[in-house]
Amino acid sequence: MSTLAEVLARETRAGELYDTLPDGRLRCYACGHCCPLPEGAIGVCKVRFNERGRLMVPWGYVGGVQCDPIEKKPFFHAHPGALAYSFGMLGCDLHCGYCQNWVTSQALRDPAAVAPPIEADPDSLVRDALRQHARAIVSTYNEPLITSEWAVAVFEQAKAAGLATGFVSNGNGTPRVLEYLRPWVDLYKVDLKSFDDRHYRELGGRIGPILDTIRRLHAMDVWVEIVTLLIPGFNDSRDELMRLTEFVASVSPDIPWHVTAFHGDYKMTGPPNTTAEMLLGAADIARANGLRFVYAGNLPGMVGDLENTRCASCGDLLIGRYGYHIRDYRITPDGACPSCAARVPGRWSRRFDGQIASRPFLPGSRRFTILGSR
Ligand code: SF4
Repeated sequence: MSTLAEVLARETRAGELYDTLPDGRLRCYACGHCCPLPEGAIGVCKVRFNERGRLMVPWGYVGGVQCDPIEKKPFFHAHPGALAYSFGMLGCDLHCGYCQNWVTSQALRDPAAVAPPIEADPDSLVRDALRQHARAIVSTYNEPLITSEWAVAVFEQAKAAGLATGFVSNGNGTPRVLEYLRPWVDLYKVDLKSFDDRHYRELGGRIGPILDTIRRLHAMDVWVEIVTLLIPGFNDSRDELMRLTEFVASVSPDIPWHVTAFHGDYKMTGPPNTTAEMLLGAADIARANGLRFVYAGNLPGMVGDLENTRCASCGDLLIGRYGYHIRDYRITPDGACPSCAARVPGRWSRRFDGQIASRPFLPGSRRFTILGSR
């Protein structure tokens, strides 16, 4: 039986996001690490590598597939109620101790993370998404930037079939990968984990590329929503939340900011769980800094109005939610408030067709094969 690394090394093809340096090394631009890779070397992500002068990148598999409410990504201002066909590959360019997707993201770093890759091709993924009545298809579960070529191959077919496309990402991008993705990615969730570069270095990154990604995506007219998992003692100081939310508001006060509750996971089990009061306090800071759409997540029914969308002009309720579930929907077909006609920022479907509840879904073994099992 092959090891996971051996299996994944076979499931590759030559990528596009790299240059050959004068000294013969390759420079990868899929994420903000911009790894210089000599012959035979593998990147920080552990899935892209230099093989005889070509950058080999992940191809032809998924680490998991599931249909989720789009609210779970979370996108609150994009096709509410839609089912998002969600797929991931394996690996990540960061190594966050509290990762909630560590089984797939850390599959190549942590022997305890066991996630067998499943053979797939773009056509069958898109057909499955349509069969499930998905409205969107989203690359998530691991860091999609490091598998951008594969995501674009899937999204090309998805867009031709009329699906919206999205990334759920840590935002550690480069100008080059964002230009590459721009024609194919409609929605982009950035996980803004902190506003302190020292914290980002603990997680294996730098804050600079992440802030640059947020600015560029907004300037490119990609729909952006931002999530911050509020971790007591890590990123919840008033000063840090002030600077973080000031930054988001400086890019656009219309970017939705989701502040979500931490619970112990993976290697970070020390901090206490985030309380509703902590989320409400963070939301107050965000609103005071001018953000118009602030949401508190992971504690359904405990955060008052912070699960709902209200019109930024007249305050009327536009979308009522309980957790991921939509209880009320009043946005007009052209994306406006029915009371005052103010435009509501987002990507709205012409009408709300009800919500398809979450249904866990793994491709049936008849159509997909677990790689390494043959
Ligand atoms: S995706 Fe990022 S970590 Fe992986 S090889 Fe490219 S630059 Fe390095």
